[in-house]
Amino acid sequence: MDFQTIKARDDQYVLNTYARFQVDVDHGKNATLYSAEGREYIDFTSGIGVNSIGCANPKWVDAIAVQAARLGHMSNLFYTQPCGQLAEQLCRRAGMSAAFFANSGAESNEGLIKLARKYSFDKYGKGRGTILTLKNSFHGRTVTTLSATGQDVFHNYFFPFTDGFRFAEPTMDGIAEVSGHDVCAVMLELIQGESGVYPLDQGFVHNLAVLCAERDWLLLVDEVQTGIGRTGTLFCYQQYGILPDAVSFAKGIAGGLPFGGFLVSEKCRGVLTPGTHATTFGGNPVCAAAALATLQILSEDVMGEITDKGNYLRGAIESLELPCLGKTRGLGLMIGIEVKPGRTNRDVAVQLMENGLLVLTAGPALRLLPPLTITKDEMDKGLAIMKQTLGGM
Ligand SMILES: *Cc1c(COP(=O)(O)O)cnc(C)c1O
Repeated sequence: MDFQTIKARDDQYVLNTYARFQVDVDHGKNATLYSAEGREYIDFTSGIGVNSIGCANPKWVDAIAVQAARLGHMSNLFYTQPCGQLAEQLCRRAGMSAAFFANSGAESNEGLIKLARKYSFDKYGKGRGTILTLKNSFHGRTVTTLSATGQDVFHNYFFPFTDGFRFAEPTMDGIAEVSGHDVCAVMLELIQGESGVYPLDQGFVHNLAVLCAERDWLLLVDEVQTGIGRTGTLFCYQQYGILPDAVSFAKGIAGGLPFGGFLVSEKCRGVLTPGTHATTFGGNPVCAAAALATLQILSEDVMGEITDKGNYLRGAIESLELPCLGKTRGLGLMIGIEVKPGRTNRDVAVQLMENGLLVLTAGPALRLLPPLTITKDEMDKGLAIMKQTLGGM
């Protein structure tokens, strides 16, 4: 089917809630994707950090097919093996105690919010339900996670929002300004992804972890984007040298299937009990099998190379000295690139796509989230497209 036909059908029948790029993708292999008409694209997006092991990895395809042929779904009222296997692996590798599985990032963060409020309610009773989040954060699109998101543009239209969030500048003074006796937790992204790929200062994160321990505030880390290898370790907090009370994940966990969840520390494992939290599809055996395959593929040889790949890409982009791009920032294969005044990031992204390179925008920046399995050859092809497209501007 040609692009115009695909587009016309979508435009008529799919609700227009996305500012779509004029590209369709039909199939692919690792970080090389093809449109229905056979146009080739190098993928520096992985969906949005979802296809962490690239497109159509044969071990991942196999794991899904085998599990689908055995059991596609079972209620959480019964035991299935993939869910428990995955929980064990994640807990062991993350230094955490127990897992809850969900289906998306926002839903996983809702779980963190419920965990913190119930932890505090069980121990201190009512009046301590406020969660501090950071300015320029992003935590999701449900009414409550929009409330938790520290950007005014998200606090529109959908009134009334959920109460109980205050937004801090990412400094200890900023935290002190919005602190109070009603606080039960702090929730943050270690690298603020959607607002432009801004890594938090390591000293700030350390001091905040100490303060949280002193006040018995839960430290909740939203690793929906940074988690599952994206920054070079299973979770980004492992590079920040902290152990959160709970951490959420989603995007990259199942290599492309919808899946997410959160892990809790020993201190929090008794908080959520039967009847207090649940979701129909959470821990679905096919998604869990896909996640197990993803973890296996990542741990075999990919994980150790993520930092080097990220450094290679950033170094190469900076040394191209493209006139419209500035400095790069990020960790591992989560990369933000400044766009210089005079051009919008969307404009630059569209132009790259026209020449066969898929990239993302975030805040005012370009954002790269390539598959963690991207090859040197694929990176070099993408870099050549950047040079050819943006070299003269
Ligand atoms: C993408 C994202 C979310 C929301 O995830 P969904 O799966 O779209 O609900 C939440 N937090 C962060 C940090 C994200 O990057």
